[in-house]
Amino acid sequence: MAAIRGDWADKYREKWSWDSVTWGTHAVDCYPGGCSFRVYTKKGKIVREEQSGSHHPVEEGIPDMNPMGCQKGACWSHCHYSPDRVTKPLKRVGERGEGKFEEVSWDQALTEIADGILDAIQDQGPESVITPLTPELGAQGARAWTGFIGTPMTDGDAEFQDFSPGYHLTWGLYNPVSTMDDWFLADLTLIWHANPVYTNIHWYHYLAESRYNGGEVVTIAPDYSPSAIHADYHLPVRIGTDAALALAMCKVIIDADLYDKQFVQEQTDLPLLVRKDTGRFLRGSEVYQGEREDQFFWWDTSSNTLTAAPRHTLASADVEPALEGSYSVVLADWSTVEVEPVFARLRRHLEDYTPEKAGEICQLHPDNIRKLARKVATRKTKIFIGWNSGKYYHGDLMERSMALLLGLTGNWGKKGTGTRSWAIFGADGEVMQFGKDAPGQEAAQRFIGVVMAMRRLIGSSDPTMTKGMLQNRMLEMAPQVSPMGMPAPPAFLWYYQMGYKERWNNPENTDPTMKRSYDEYVTEAIEKGWWGAHYSKAYQTIQPRVLYEAGGNMLRRNRGGQKLLLEHFWPKLDLVVSVDYRITTTGLYSDYILPAAQHYEKIGHSMLSVHHLHWVLTDHATPPPGEALPDLQISIRLLEAIERRAATRGLKEFQDARGIAHSLEGISGQMTQKGAIQGEDAYWDEALKDTATFGVLPEGTDLATLREKGHVRFTNWGIMAHGQSQASTIKPDEIHTPLRWHTEDKIPYDTLVRRAQFYIDHEWFLEAGEELPTHKEPPPGHGGRNRRFEMTSGHNRWSVHSMNMTNNIIQNTHRGEPFVFLNDKDATDLGVGNGEKVKLVSDVGDTLLAAKISPSVRPGQVILYNGFEPYQHQNWYSQSDLEPGHVKHLGFASGYGHLKYRIFSWQPIPADRAVRVDVEKVG
Ligand code: SF4
Repeated sequence: MAAIRGDWADKYREKWSWDSVTWGTHAVDCYPGGCSFRVYTKKGKIVREEQSGSHHPVEEGIPDMNPMGCQKGACWSHCHYSPDRVTKPLKRVGERGEGKFEEVSWDQALTEIADGILDAIQDQGPESVITPLTPELGAQGARAWTGFIGTPMTDGDAEFQDFSPGYHLTWGLYNPVSTMDDWFLADLTLIWHANPVYTNIHWYHYLAESRYNGGEVVTIAPDYSPSAIHADYHLPVRIGTDAALALAMCKVIIDADLYDKQFVQEQTDLPLLVRKDTGRFLRGSEVYQGEREDQFFWWDTSSNTLTAAPRHTLASADVEPALEGSYSVVLADWSTVEVEPVFARLRRHLEDYTPEKAGEICQLHPDNIRKLARKVATRKTKIFIGWNSGKYYHGDLMERSMALLLGLTGNWGKKGTGTRSWAIFGADGEVMQFGKDAPGQEAAQRFIGVVMAMRRLIGSSDPTMTKGMLQNRMLEMAPQVSPMGMPAPPAFLWYYQMGYKERWNNPENTDPTMKRSYDEYVTEAIEKGWWGAHYSKAYQTIQPRVLYEAGGNMLRRNRGGQKLLLEHFWPKLDLVVSVDYRITTTGLYSDYILPAAQHYEKIGHSMLSVHHLHWVLTDHATPPPGEALPDLQISIRLLEAIERRAATRGLKEFQDARGIAHSLEGISGQMTQKGAIQGEDAYWDEALKDTATFGVLPEGTDLATLREKGHVRFTNWGIMAHGQSQASTIKPDEIHTPLRWHTEDKIPYDTLVRRAQFYIDHEWFLEAGEELPTHKEPPPGHGGRNRRFEMTSGHNRWSVHSMNMTNNIIQNTHRGEPFVFLNDKDATDLGVGNGEKVKLVSDVGDTLLAAKISPSVRPGQVILYNGFEPYQHQNWYSQSDLEPGHVKHLGFASGYGHLKYRIFSWQPIPADRAVRVDVEKVG
């Protein structure tokens, strides 16, 4: 056939030519990310990108991960050339928020920012320099400087609020999750509090493929969600009642004797004995003089005796722990108490959750609850959860109830079972290289030696501690003892300095069953030293002076809204810095905007996620435009400026509120190992070599390996606690399923009772009636009592947070403006037509959007998918301005077994679901 010729054909051919091809990915929180792209460049400009499709099958019979990608990634390079791109440092010349900036040199900007930071340290102390840990992974280099001078970084899992509190309460672990290919093996997948058709485009195929493998998919959601369309069944649960549904299924399973008795006896706390008089676990120190407090007991029915549940193993081959009954136990002081297993209490507790009663609560037919319960009990079941449940006020109870459903049916620790959250690991080389005493892998080995010695020291007091426990203990100690600026829970900063105290003490926003005032709980938590004396007390007096936001967009993201922040937080700030590749709403309210390189203009990686288990490279396709810099270079140059300006002031060191001294001399040299890793290539080559030294990547992996292959599969969890939480061994030819060390090797869990823990006998939980998973309605006044609608949310199909919502290609795939989904009958009732402007109003604020009308929305529900920039709204107020930003008081509970702060784990987190709003027609 003759070749087609002509202008248009040649133009088309021209489009498919390029000068160079590099690897690319997106270093953002599109969790789990991990998509490997090829990026094509011509004449110094990126002309196209495409999915690399370069994954190989891992385990025979299970589909590979290809093609890995989503529509945001497929047009990512348009962000590089968008009109809101910043290419030179900007300094504010008008009022904050006015949008007037002038271009300045890096030297001027960094000198003035360094002076602002030093002023704050000298005025209020280092705690006054606030750097939020944002979900923009690629910006972590721009935040790295904080570790070298010792200013705090607020914990991202509270900032972006993707914590799964109920899972932490149950397993005491940081998010045990499988690789995505394990979803193929599920016989039954419950899509619950998630909408993967929108948000997991790159790996949703495993859910569809599981149906070809004989599996069934059930979507549990209040609306007929986009993911419901592709499911075998849809259960339209009433908003906020998911715990009742899960508990009713638990009741059906227990009543029908369908529960996995051996799993329950071995893996969970359900056989452990609880005192009937106090409702607390029977403890070793009560039974025997000198015994440990954290020794727990069960009743062995084969010997009919009280027996100590072993702390070093889950194996219980020679005993038959009772699940029912009541027993008398003589205590060390010769008094007698009645005790019973948790299971017996659970059985009674579940009397309130018959399918009929739960059906009324959840507005579901009881037969459908029974039917689903029997399916869960008889099949390998996975719960596909997102980060929706944790955002409900009682999300912890929902997640605990779901975990109970899995626990009763033996549905974790084997292939095709379990649940999910977000889980990262594998940054050992990146994080630890700053702690090494010299460049090179010998120094990395020495560093490992120090960690092992510390681990041995911690373990010397209790030889039954597992590797995971030792690493968790080290992580718990870090914020207290480290001279570095460690992540800290931001709740105390929010409470005392950012205007949230009044909101959280408003009884309308809280659970009406709460027994005392909110402030009493916060004060008690601080006085008992549960959160360490440092950060919990610091913000009672220390005022924030500097906000350094790198890759984040606080004025869009923070629950509570920009009105609250601009009123209470911003006036205290002498300096606001936004480091970004574009101008965000937060940038518009900043004093300086520092231009950062975009993802194809620097070296970096995608989320180091357990879901895909790969280190995925993004590389230089083009240099950053104008004067934009890779994030690490920004940190190095800022440290140089701080050092220089400190020397000018004669300031050599300062102390933080703990009295720990921080030197200001040689800090930039520390970050670059005296220049050895100053350049980007040198830094990443060293980081990758160290990561291989830590065993996380194959031996010999370096930057050249990644440049050749694009991505490399992990080989081990490394020495950081987050990886160990997966509790399974990574094998090269096997998909990953977490918790197998517990189910197969009988290694204990890191909870107070060393078993999966459904009974929390912390004094606050007992007081709240939440010792067992239970259902509680969302606070009726959360957003405003008697307001007609309940607002739900989730990630927009068209965004990875707000950064993609200003991509013009993406805007052309939706209405190009913020919108809210409304039920068609509700819209008729309100007289609102499709596309017409509506105002959403809560007690704390309002926002203007276009109505998108759909019968798939539940009557009484409004769905406001997040991600729109506030400045895309008519009055600049967005979704977060409707949210009170409330934190459940039990989040402050600590001082109990596994209820202790570790980065990305147990801490107070805000609720933003089921906010009550009114909808008003505009115009
Ligand atoms: Fe994959 Fe995330 Fe990139 Fe989309 S944005 S292609 S999910 S890495």
